[in-house]
Amino acid sequence: MIEIEDLNIRYGNFIAIDNLNLNVEKYSSCAIIGPSGCGKTTLLYAVAGILKPSSGLIKINGEKIKGNRKSTGIILQNYGLLPWKTVWDNVALGLKIRKANRETINKKVTNILKKLDLEDLKDKYPVQLSGGQRQRVAIARTLTIEPDLLLMDEPFSSLDAISRESLQDLLLRLYKENKMTMVIVTHNIEEAVFLGHKIVIMAKREGKIKKVIENPYFGD
Ligand code: ADP
Ligand code: ADP
Repeated sequence: MIEIEDLNIRYGNFIAIDNLNLNVEKYSSCAIIGPSGCGKTTLLYAVAGILKPSSGLIKINGEKIKGNRKSTGIILQNYGLLPWKTVWDNVALGLKIRKANRETINKKVTNILKKLDLEDLKDKYPVQLSGGQRQRVAIARTLTIEPDLLLMDEPFSSLDAISRESLQDLLLRLYKENKMTMVIVTHNIEEAVFLGHKIVIMAKREGKIKKVIENPYFGD
C-alpha cells in the first residue's frame, strides 16, 4: 500500500529524514516509534502528502502521491475539532468539505455516531467533552470519509490510561471492521505492540530507521 523509496526531507540544512526506505502492506498496521525529534511526525506528514519531500519517492497503491489524497484520514494528538461547532457538525465536516449531499451526510453521520456510541453527545460542543470523548469524535469524523489509509500522530498520548486503553480497543475494532491500512506514530511501546503488525523503530536524531520488527503480538 505504501512504498517509500530513498526519502530525504530537510528543513533548511537540517536533515529530518535521511534516505529512508519502508513498505507497508495493504490492510496491515504499522507503528512507528522512536525518541522525540527522530522524524516520526515529518515522515507521517510526508505520507499524508502535506509535506513535500526534498527528494525520493512515496507511492500509495502504486501511485506517486501529489498533495493530500481524498481517502487518506488523519488523526492528530490535539483532536483538531472546531470549538464553535457541535459534535454533529464536527463529524459532518469531512463530508461537507467533500461536497457530499445533505442526505448522504445525515445518513453517514448518524451511522458513525451510533457506531462510536456518540449519539447522546451530538449536540454538545468540544469544550463540554472529556479528552477521550473528543478523540472519539475526531475518529468518527475521519471515518465518515471511509479512508483506505488512516494516519495517526500520537493520537492517544494526551489521554489518561483508561481512556487510552478504551480508544486503543475501539481503534482495533474499527480496523478489523473496515478494510484499511494504518500507520500510527507513538512513543508508547505497549501501544506499538498492541496496534502494529510491523513496528518501525527510528534512531535518535538521525532521521533513519534503526530496526523493523514483525510483531507477533498484534491485538493481544
Ligand atoms: P518527532 O515527531 O519524532 O518528534 P519531528 O518529525 O517532529 O520528530 O521532527 C524531526 C526533527 O526535525 C526535530 O529535530 C525537529 O526539531 C526538526 N523540525 C521539525 N519541524 C521543523 C521545521 N519546521 N523547521 C526546522 N526543523 C524542524
Ligand atoms: P449548514 O448550515 O452547515 O448547511 P446545517 O447545520 O443546516 O448545515 O445541517 C445540515 C444537516 O445536518 C441538516 O439536515 C440538519 O438536520 C443536520 N444536523 C445538523 N445538526 C444536527 C444535529 N445536532 N443533530 C442531527 N442532525 C443535525
